[in-house]
Amino acid sequence: MRVRDKKDIKRPRRALPLRKRFCRFCADKNRTIDYKDIKTLESFIKDRGKVVSSRLSGNCARHQRKVAEMVKKARFLSLLPYVRY
Ligand SMILES: [Zn+2]
Repeated sequence: MRVRDKKDIKRPRRALPLRKRFCRFCADKNRTIDYKDIKTLESFIKDRGKVVSSRLSGNCARHQRKVAEMVKKARFLSLLPYVRY
């Protein structure tokens, strides 16, 4: 039916539940981002090896930039993969 089709299109897509997010590096000043800290960096890359977006990670712009930079640095040193299959 036509009406139902329209309804399906207009349905809001909210795959993930909204959570109150905060930048964990701003919240904890002692927490630093380092290219040698693989454990922390791993939590910011997806299982395919991509950097998790700030929308998902909750990082502020400044720290998200830092994370991306450190991931790239770690990749260059073969500490993290560029891509995982
Ligand atoms: Zn921050």
